[in-house]
Amino acid sequence: MKRRTFFQSTMAAAAATAIPRGQSFAGLYRLVLQDPGDVLAVRGDGGKVTLKGAAVKELAASIRGRLLLAKSEGYEEARRVLNPTIDKHPALIAQPTSTADVQAAVVFARENSLLTAVKCGGHSFSGQSTCDGGLMIDLSGLRAVRIDPVAKRAVVTGGSLLGQVDRAAQELELVTPLGTVSHTGVGGLTTGGGFGRVARRFGLALDNVTAVEVVTADGKLLRASKGENEDLFWGVRGGGGNFGIVTSFEFQLHPMQRKVIGGDMLFPLSRAREVLSFFADYCAQAPDDLYLDFVMAAPPGGAEGFVALNSCYSGPESGAARAYQPMKRLGTPVADQTKSIDYVDLQRSGDVTDPRAMGTYLKSGFTSQVTPDLIATILAGFQAHPARMTQVFLPQCGGAIGRVPTTATAFAHRYANQSLISMIAWRAGDDSTQHMAWARKYWATLEPFTRGFYTNEVADESAQVVDANYRENHKRLVTIKNKYDPTNLFRLNANVRPTTSG
Ligand code: FAD
Repeated sequence: MKRRTFFQSTMAAAAATAIPRGQSFAGLYRLVLQDPGDVLAVRGDGGKVTLKGAAVKELAASIRGRLLLAKSEGYEEARRVLNPTIDKHPALIAQPTSTADVQAAVVFARENSLLTAVKCGGHSFSGQSTCDGGLMIDLSGLRAVRIDPVAKRAVVTGGSLLGQVDRAAQELELVTPLGTVSHTGVGGLTTGGGFGRVARRFGLALDNVTAVEVVTADGKLLRASKGENEDLFWGVRGGGGNFGIVTSFEFQLHPMQRKVIGGDMLFPLSRAREVLSFFADYCAQAPDDLYLDFVMAAPPGGAEGFVALNSCYSGPESGAARAYQPMKRLGTPVADQTKSIDYVDLQRSGDVTDPRAMGTYLKSGFTSQVTPDLIATILAGFQAHPARMTQVFLPQCGGAIGRVPTTATAFAHRYANQSLISMIAWRAGDDSTQHMAWARKYWATLEPFTRGFYTNEVADESAQVVDANYRENHKRLVTIKNKYDPTNLFRLNANVRPTTSG
């Protein structure tokens, strides 16, 4: 899912911290913690709670990492997530540097019934990893990857970014399937799914998890794998952050050479029907070694739109020509940037063109086939606008992802052959009303062609829709939620609501 933007990044400026003249960051941090005073906070049920200054101070003293209040050094940066239109202010931000710190923060949150957000890479489009008035547990201090080349395992701490794993594994010509933008968090990506360039060969990120360590809502640290806390192990692979905070993932690694073939083949927007029809046909036959993503984009400012076939071929060199041969039917593209490239570089190639500085809104749903009717509908409603980026993506799924039984993990959408994504992006600060209205109207025409959606792209769906989206796995997820998080401490996600109250 490569996402592009045509606006310059202004994230650094947007995240600038206002410090009173003459006051150093460190000074402010000490000041706040010496006498934090009572802190007004928000509970998970929306009610208000006053946290006694002494209790806040005690929490700060009990963790090795930092506890930030609104005036603390680093608070402004820490509260931000990737989508700059999400502008929330947690009452407290805990920045653990150890599992024990995570446990202390969770216990504090549970004892005070706090609204609790968990941030890893901060990529949740809808801002699930931050909150107004609650506690944010920011895992960015827990970023480490250890590779065991003999056992072909990677042990990855819960706040890591996927680029760290790609880099460490590829040094030994190993890989585990993760997403396509290197600063995406392993935590959110993996617990919800994890689609990427080699998933058709090796499955979703979550299919490659062999064990996890999880801090559950009662503050306990549990190891879960085949044979240990199997219900929890099943649930965290597709149930998102519903059951606790994964502080450590163990991934299976696969041998893979460093050089792959990848990049974009670009065509003018006027050829969208032809390219999309080709994509639809080829998706059904393409080898698992090939990943294709159809992209249609109309940039802001009236610049000419384009369609692209973004690909990654990661199989043996001898099969590459055959995999790309069918593309020749499309004739000469406007530009062909497909080339032999280091996998780690390909994985980073979308890093600076993602919607980091943009307001973004997206709706997505899985498709098992791109039918002529769907193609006609995508094209009929697609509308450029000078003040927004308008995009449709169709990253290919299928392959090994679809060969896992639906109930083997909590991820319930094994039938998907593509994910249909409609995304708009506008300059942060611009009025988005008309763009959002258009996006919703357009999605209403596309949604009937989809079946379920990616929980990692949950936005404004009702609780009933979220429940139904877990399909036949919902009932088991509720049982696991009742056991590990009966008070719904971890509710900022595609929420599985407990049916007991603890
Ligand atoms: P965060 O916003 O930090 O967290 C999101 C959710 O995950 C929160 O509910 C949080 O509670 C939970 N969570 C985070 N860490 C943990 C943890 N350690 N334990 C338990 N719960 C946790 N998805 C794909 O599958 N493939 C892609 O190629 C892909 N590309 C993307 C590119 C961009 C630019 C963006 C913005 C998103 C992309 N996504 C992709 C979607 C992505 O999977 C989700 O946004 C995902 O939630 C990101 O994880 P995060 O840790 O960065 O998110």
